[in-house]
Amino acid sequence: MPELTAPSHAVELIRRASVTPDDCGCQDYLESVLTPLGFIRTPINIGSVTNSIYMRNGERSGCLAFAGHTDVVPTGPVEQWPHPPFAAIVEDNTLHGRGAQDMKGGIACWLAALERLITKNLPLSSIQLLITSDEEGESIDGTIRIVEALQRDDALPDAAIVGEPSSSAQVGDVIRRGRRGVVQVAAVFEGRQGHSAYPQDAVNAIHLAAPVLDRLTHIDWGEAMPGFPPTTCQITNIQAGTGAINVIPGTCSISLDIRYNPGIDFEGVQKHIFEACNNVDVILDIQHQAEAFSTPDGSFLNFVKAAIQRMTGIKTKRDTGGGTSDGRFLAAAGVPVIELGLTNSTIHQIGECVAVNELNILTDIYADIIQRFEV
Ligand SMILES: [Zn+2]
Repeated sequence: MPELTAPSHAVELIRRASVTPDDCGCQDYLESVLTPLGFIRTPINIGSVTNSIYMRNGERSGCLAFAGHTDVVPTGPVEQWPHPPFAAIVEDNTLHGRGAQDMKGGIACWLAALERLITKNLPLSSIQLLITSDEEGESIDGTIRIVEALQRDDALPDAAIVGEPSSSAQVGDVIRRGRRGVVQVAAVFEGRQGHSAYPQDAVNAIHLAAPVLDRLTHIDWGEAMPGFPPTTCQITNIQAGTGAINVIPGTCSISLDIRYNPGIDFEGVQKHIFEACNNVDVILDIQHQAEAFSTPDGSFLNFVKAAIQRMTGIKTKRDTGGGTSDGRFLAAAGVPVIELGLTNSTIHQIGECVAVNELNILTDIYADIIQRFEV
């Protein structure tokens, strides 16, 4: 008789319509499941964001954290969903609903794994759950605030699993062990507007920008860290001109989205941008949106891979692609971080869903990790 607890936790969570940053009672549900298992909830709520740390009393050393988010992205047009997005309908062994893969399903599996181990009185490492309702939004008051609280209390975990849907074709085939960093730049070139037949009386802001744009797209970012995509700089917006063909534009605004390989740091990225803009009259607004992180090859990575192999027979691929994740906040505090979760074929889409069987497999993997983890 297979256990069915992960799917039922997932159903409960999906029925709480927690679009960022509204937690909509999801964490009260987690508390109701975790309290009988001996966990105590420490809320770290900021504004409309619900953050919680769940720990068992007195546990400090040899600690493994599970980090996740209860918030989900908006549904889009509800009438286009095959089932109502917050009804959590199970049909043909598939659970339908917003958050099924990203990432209420993953949280449900961690809960089910804890229940399985604790109710059987199996020995296990100390566990933290670090849960936020602000991951899909700006992530300003979410996991970063949890990490700050842990640092204040000297309670940082020794390692962390982030339950984001890392898997591709089947559960466990891909884990993420790092992400590139993100730098976003707004630049305004100031010239002087004028008549295009009298260019000697004007300064064309597009002409000021053009050589800079060319240099920005040809930066040599230096040696990349292996295993990560290279640093890329994409010009994503250009605005200039009045619409009239005979007016020289006085200003030109551009924006850049730079994803940087951990072989370089924010200061290094900034230096390249300044060099590209050298001797040009430009106002720069450079934002370090996310730090790059990389969990090195070694014991924690091998430990997680071994758990996946034991439970599924799969040889896991370690990946570093995609955008950024909340793992960066833990990694910045020195915690080794691995993202391991469900498949991601329908995340953020209309009709998000997950196979019930996947929930059971991920529960097995999480239980193996929780049971065997030691520092
Ligand atoms: Zn997510």
